[in-house]
Amino acid sequence: MQSHENMDAMAALVCGCLNVRVSFVSGQLRPVSFFQLALAGEEALEAFFKQKLIDVTLDLTGVTKEHAFLTRRKAVGEWFITSCLNCGMAAYAEHVKHSLHKVLVSSHLVRDARTVEEMVRSPQYSPAFRVLLKPKTTDLSPDLGMPFARQDASLERQHELQLINGKSTKFLRQKQLEMEKRIREFADQQKLEFSELQRRTIQDKNVVLG
Ligand SMILES: [Zn+2]
Repeated sequence: MQSHENMDAMAALVCGCLNVRVSFVSGQLRPVSFFQLALAGEEALEAFFKQKLIDVTLDLTGVTKEHAFLTRRKAVGEWFITSCLNCGMAAYAEHVKHSLHKVLVSSHLVRDARTVEEMVRSPQYSPAFRVLLKPKTTDLSPDLGMPFARQDASLERQHELQLINGKSTKFLRQKQLEMEKRIREFADQQKLEFSELQRRTIQDKNVVLG
């Protein structure tokens, strides 16, 4: 069980907040240089391509997002670049022709299973939303602070709010059921111990009275 978890984590790359996850075929990581990409026009000017990049072959899981609305996909020439809005990382690029299996990922993505475990254990990790969240600040620029707190009445925004409300309600309901089960089990155990003590006391009383 543990090995499955580890293998899973090791054959995936995650963004800085765990929102975007790129699962790839193990061993299929190839560093790519800027020159190998043979970019033209606006592509050659795009900052994403100027960092160290890795060419990966996606596995069946491929790219997953905890919260798709916290990502943005932009077209640059023949590429689509997806960034995570929650941590601000430009995560990966898909070529219009090879997007099904191959993506270029930023080498800034986290690959080390131990680092991912540390992220999950950190105080910033939200158990309900399964991503790292920055503490809410009174930032003058809400877009750079906490995406969940953005004010926007658009239909898309309402959908996001519904999604988040649904997720938090479901999470809390699940945790409540688990807590109630633990309380019932504890109460049953305590009652059992008490009746055993009762039985023993009556037995001992009879022994004492002869
Ligand atoms: Zn992120």
